Amino acid sequence: MPEPPSFAIFIEDGKGPLFREYCADLTEAKRRAEELAELEGLPFIVFSFQQARQVARFKPKPRPASVYCAERALLERLCDEAEAILNAARNAFRDRSGACLTEEFGSLTNEAQKAWQDFSRRKTALDAHVREHHCLKAG
Ligand SMILES: [Zn+2]
Repeated sequence: MPEPPSFAIFIEDGKGPLFREYCADLTEAKRRAEELAELEGLPFIVFSFQQARQVARFKPKPRPASVYCAERALLERLCDEAEAILNAARNAFRDRSGACLTEEFGSLTNEAQKAWQDFSRRKTALDAHVREHHCLKAG
């Protein structure tokens, strides 16, 4: 006849503990609760039937922001491209605005304005992503 379990592992939910599994041994119960906390990102408690109380509690370690972020890499590349186009448009404008005809002057200005708009739109998207995602750097 197997012994009745001595310990139980619960998820510590905001509404109350949720039973997860039984465990015969305290060391094993603690190890398992700690593992579950990490795996599931939730706090877990170990309950002792003998003592009729909680004997251990494990909170998940705060997860570090993801270091690799493919989306950020893409947004940064788009941003760099737009910045390069913007710089080129500005240089072209600076080099030629002194000498060019009014028509040419107008088209260079439009180009620089469009490049600036592209760049700001992409920069805004990148900043918004980093703010929401907390990624540290692009992969
Ligand atoms: Zn990211």
